[in-house]
Amino acid sequence: MASDSSTTPHPGEAHLQNVGQRLNWLRAGVLGANDGIVSTAGVVVGVAAATPNNVLAIATAGIAAVVAGAFSMAGGEYVSVSTQRDTEKALIAKERWELETMPEEELEELTELYRQRGLSDDLAHQVAVQLTETDALAAHAEVELGIDHEEFTSPWAAAVSSFIAFAVGALIPLIMILLPVGGHRVWIAAIAVVIGLFLTGWISAALGGAPRGRAILRNVVMGSATMIATYAIGALFGVAIG
Ligand SMILES: [Zn+2]
Repeated sequence: MASDSSTTPHPGEAHLQNVGQRLNWLRAGVLGANDGIVSTAGVVVGVAAATPNNVLAIATAGIAAVVAGAFSMAGGEYVSVSTQRDTEKALIAKERWELETMPEEELEELTELYRQRGLSDDLAHQVAVQLTETDALAAHAEVELGIDHEEFTSPWAAAVSSFIAFAVGALIPLIMILLPVGGHRVWIAAIAVVIGLFLTGWISAALGGAPRGRAILRNVVMGSATMIATYAIGALFGVAIG
């Protein structure tokens, strides 16, 4: 799709696409925050179950969990987006070479792709000819490869945003478990985590257009199961050591 609005026959479509991309970013951020909440809650609740009064141990484990999780998420995102981008760039380069060396075959190929999508022979030919005149590479990238060749996502942007999203979510259990409330710290943290999971489940379902109730329930149950599992393990360790 051309980014220059003067060459775009329907500017509204480009706008809709941008909204969709922004929603995808927002959803990825909410899911990253959800990961941060669940994994950090699991660590701090487990350590607190083993050594409820050792605030230093809980804080050390919690901070390590936040840093390790955020770097792991960012690194994974960087590698995955870089690889996808390299693949797309290689496909685009091959397509550009094909368009330069065999334009007739490429026009026939584009015509055939539109025929397969249900256009009549004449119309498919007209569409292919006009798109080839306007921006042949963009047309082939979109119809043949399913790539928007002007929209390569930056791996660094993906890495930094998933780092921040994870860390923001992770701060909820970390801060709550460190509040000076003595023996109640695990309960306070668990309640805060359930509220956080309720919100991330609700927002991601709303953004994805999915039924909210089921998404929230699933999210809260999975996160609570994580805390119950690490609490049980921590409590067993605490009994064995203490
Ligand atoms: Zn092609």
